[in-house]
Amino acid sequence: MGRTAVIIGAGPAGLTAALEFLRRSDITPILLEASDEIGGISRTIRYKGNRMDIGGHRFFSKSNRVMQWWIDLMPPESLEGEAEVEIAYQGKHRVVTVPAHLREEPVLRGAGPHVVTTEEATESEDEPNEEEAVVAEVMVPEAVPDPDLVMLIRPRKSRIYYLRKFFDYPITLTATTLRNLGAMRTVKVGTSYLKSRLSQIKPEKSLEDFLINRFGRQLYLTFFKSYTEKVWGTPCSEISAEWGAQRIKGLSLTTAVKHFVKKSFSRKKGDLSQKGTDTSLIERFMYPKFGPGQLWEHVADLIVEKGGQIHMGWKVDRIHCEGEHVVSIDAVNRAGERRTFAGEYFFSTMPMRELVEAIDAPVPENVREVSAGLQYRDFITVGLLADRLKVKDPDGGLLKDTWIYVQEPDVLLGRLQIFNNWSPYLVADPTKVWIGLEYFCYDTDDLWKMPDEELMKFVIAEVAKIGILNAEDVSDGHVVRVPKTYPAYFGTYERFEELREFVDGFENLFLVGRNGMHKYNNQDHSMLTAMTAVDGILAGNVDKAALWGINTEQEYHEEKKS
Ligand SMILES: Cc1cc2nc3c(=O)[nH]c(=O)nc-3n(C[C@H](O)[C@H](O)[C@H](O)COP(=O)(O)OP(=O)(O)OC[C@H]3O[C@@H](n4cnc5c(N)ncnc54)[C@H](O)[C@@H]3O)c2cc1C
Repeated sequence: MGRTAVIIGAGPAGLTAALEFLRRSDITPILLEASDEIGGISRTIRYKGNRMDIGGHRFFSKSNRVMQWWIDLMPPESLEGEAEVEIAYQGKHRVVTVPAHLREEPVLRGAGPHVVTTEEATESEDEPNEEEAVVAEVMVPEAVPDPDLVMLIRPRKSRIYYLRKFFDYPITLTATTLRNLGAMRTVKVGTSYLKSRLSQIKPEKSLEDFLINRFGRQLYLTFFKSYTEKVWGTPCSEISAEWGAQRIKGLSLTTAVKHFVKKSFSRKKGDLSQKGTDTSLIERFMYPKFGPGQLWEHVADLIVEKGGQIHMGWKVDRIHCEGEHVVSIDAVNRAGERRTFAGEYFFSTMPMRELVEAIDAPVPENVREVSAGLQYRDFITVGLLADRLKVKDPDGGLLKDTWIYVQEPDVLLGRLQIFNNWSPYLVADPTKVWIGLEYFCYDTDDLWKMPDEELMKFVIAEVAKIGILNAEDVSDGHVVRVPKTYPAYFGTYERFEELREFVDGFENLFLVGRNGMHKYNNQDHSMLTAMTAVDGILAGNVDKAALWGINTEQEYHEEKKS
């Protein structure tokens, strides 16, 4: 019997690891998923023909590898039918469209780039290296690909709602911004920004320090404090500056101003990667036609087609170890049945706190303490179907925003998604407006425990209060509670190294993904951790430090090498 990789969780990280094994090795992946849904936090919820995204997932990455992976699975719609399209950034050029193997194996669309052998590669006049050969291989498939398996290219429009007015996000220095802020606030913003430029807070310990250093105290108080504290339920002064470094790196008032100026000049057509752009300033992103879950469900289908196993409804609760080697794991289903899965490699995307509880090896007291003290923020999203919004776009139609940060301190509402603008295909009846109202909370909060009907009423009252819609225009709604959406950088996080050292000690256990690494990883980072672990296994040596380095450095590991 061949080698097996047992993978905990069918979210982006687990699914990526499984498909990578199948594409590139004879290692069989066995995925165990506690829920009945594919995609983890990146799944798409279905409700009466409508689809909801948990949070709104932009598909954007600075990693060439991830961009290529996505495009290979679901080509951008605008590329349909074209023989080749150039994506250019920072002087690099890529040709990406449907890979040649799709013509040969249409059912296995996305099963992996056809790896060009050295022999084939050397036949080429240009003598490309292997990677270039793969991405440069472009053919129009004879069979028409599934028209639904495509990425839409969506314009990003996100604004801040504050003082019952809209502000650009990121803040731009426009006449509207200044008018909305009023003269007094504008002067305060300017002087406090200058003050922060002249005297930076050092060392930059907290998120508050991080934001004041980049925006000045007044702008921080106006546009960041209330929203960030809604998200984390903790004062910014108690959140590690590392959060800011990962989440809004590269963004400051200065870059916002520069961006505003730059916008007047043309951007290169076809630059989907927008690699030279800081993540918070990206203005176009890819988005699967039917929401992020469509991509991950497609990946799951490919995994099964290629011989991998996915066991739904099996929750892993025991990790059996012999010394520093994991030998098997136990999972339990809803009927209470238990099964043991043995393998050579083990990938975990389950929350680290639960992983440590499940390990049957002796866990040192300090490690147990750090693990037990890890904290998470939970998330509620309520989908509301309405006939119209009260607040309109200047053209009289639906607002163009994909999402809106609600900075109003008199409501608990944190963010609002307009799903119609993510993809019109998320909405069953195009005459309706389908929005998602997002609340950040703890699963111990009253809000979390509120019965659905009561919660719906509460939410409708909040959006009506701030003037977004009239309550009587809402015809239906759906509540989704998502635990552990945000691994927090407080609690025992400052002692995280102790925990990391312990888990890294298990030679064949690989922690990947977001909660799997207790790291604020987006899909691309989660995927890269999985890909990098598989790379290491196939090369016979996994550099675990490199896995932890992903999404820590300014540029991802992959780019640093090139
Ligand atoms: C509000 C919000 C907005 C976001 N927006 C974006 C965005 O715009 N772009 C982007 O790229 N990313 C975004 N993300 C991040 C993205 O959702 C995550 O990076 C990604 O889903 C993490 O993948 P993962 O596989 O590590 O974990 P998850 O998605 O959490 O999947 C883990 C899976 O493991 C399962 N599991 C857990 N415990 C067990 C167990 N004991 N046994 C078996 N199975 C288990 C879970 O049920 C789950 O299915 C966003 C996240 C949030 C919360």
